[in-house]
Amino acid sequence: MPNPVAPRPPELLSPWHSEARAALQAEARAFARDVVMPVADECDPQKAEMPRSLIDAMAAKGWFGITIPTEHGGLGLGVFEYCLVSEELARAWLSVGSILARGQGLGTQTLDDGRRAALLRNSAQGRWIGGIALSEPTAGSDLAGVQTRAVRDGDAWVLTGTKRWAGFALAADFIEVLARTREPEPGEPRSAGLEPFLVVKEPGTFPPGMTGQVIDKIGYHGFLTWQLELDGVRVPESDRLTGLYGDVGADADSGGFAAVQRGLNIARVHTAARAVGVARAAVEDCQAYLQEREQFGHPIGAFQALRFALADMAAEVAQARAFWQQVAHLLDQGEPAESESAMVKLLATEMAVRVTNQAMQLHGGNGYTTERRVERYWRDARLTTIFEGTSEIQRRIISDRMLPRA
Ligand SMILES: Cc1cc2nc3c(=O)[nH]c(=O)nc-3n(C[C@H](O)[C@H](O)[C@H](O)COP(=O)(O)OP(=O)(O)OC[C@H]3O[C@@H](n4cnc5c(N)ncnc54)[C@H](O)[C@@H]3O)c2cc1C
Repeated sequence: MPNPVAPRPPELLSPWHSEARAALQAEARAFARDVVMPVADECDPQKAEMPRSLIDAMAAKGWFGITIPTEHGGLGLGVFEYCLVSEELARAWLSVGSILARGQGLGTQTLDDGRRAALLRNSAQGRWIGGIALSEPTAGSDLAGVQTRAVRDGDAWVLTGTKRWAGFALAADFIEVLARTREPEPGEPRSAGLEPFLVVKEPGTFPPGMTGQVIDKIGYHGFLTWQLELDGVRVPESDRLTGLYGDVGADADSGGFAAVQRGLNIARVHTAARAVGVARAAVEDCQAYLQEREQFGHPIGAFQALRFALADMAAEVAQARAFWQQVAHLLDQGEPAESESAMVKLLATEMAVRVTNQAMQLHGGNGYTTERRVERYWRDARLTTIFEGTSEIQRRIISDRMLPRA
């Protein structure tokens, strides 16, 4: 597979530029090119999970703890740096940009402060990497419809139900499972009674009472994605979590989810940054291909229609990057930025679908083969408007802050 070393399209100098950020970006960019890309080229066609050695290499750089405070062993940086690294990793392989979200303190929100501190340290070191099991066969956008039951039994909870789309569930150290502990009282939001539970497990196995079946996806390889059957999974009371952070596309206004809003907003801007990474990959490959491929006696990059198409793609990527950087900055300043997070998720992911589609067109027949990476970018970009809350759900969040609710 050709590995184009095209000059990159121009990058806007961000108003939030600093030497430290430029150094982190350069480090992640080199890692993505030299370490991630060869693994992606080998594993993606096999629909294989990323190797543990790749995760360990990212852990050694401290990237599972970018946003974890230094006193807990993290890098103590912000959402901005988290997204900066993720964009670079996703430029090589979307799933590698995603796995960082499975550290960053996920699965540490326990009631016991001592345990929480220990888990945070493990999370920062890449030794506490989680799966997230919120969605179900009948509850996706509408997470308040979750039917998995948590029933109290002595000092434990017993979980029973079916979860769908749980990425990385087998390889994980734990799975966060959203379950219903009680029915909502009259007047309460439908999400009342939904609580996250920490299912601790050995990587490579499922715990007693849980079985899993791999869902055969068309992209987003590097993660295996599971349908899980829970039949009496026991969770001690101490592993009932106080908060939740992850792939939620649910109604963020409902009271039960209010506490997780910041986590949702971070997930949305993180998805936008990953989408920018994938779209940038498509632009950079086109930049090389337009110089390499000749027709009618010229490189196809001589045709103005194609030059202008490339310019439009590069401009769209630059715009989306500037937007995620703005929203990440707002979140780091402690702003709620709810609409902005939904807007950037919506715009950046829709952009990635358009740009990767155009990239395939510019590659002609060669784009529609597995000999070039552009088909991978196209398949992976297509997911970004669906997971972490669909485009329609983002539009709903934005419009609900503009108009009275119907
Ligand atoms: C590859 C992959 C990985 C995933 N990883 C995880 C994971 O690790 N953990 C996890 O818990 N989940 C995960 N998900 C689930 C993901 O979050 C859901 O797929 C997503 O939230 C959409 O839910 P759904 O698929 O049930 O679609 P549905 O909710 O059934 O939506 C179908 C269509 O209806 C539209 N729609 C729904 N409600 C409305 C509305 N109110 N207004 C307008 N339109 C609406 C949607 O936008 C969509 O177009 C993953 C999904 C995929 C595909």
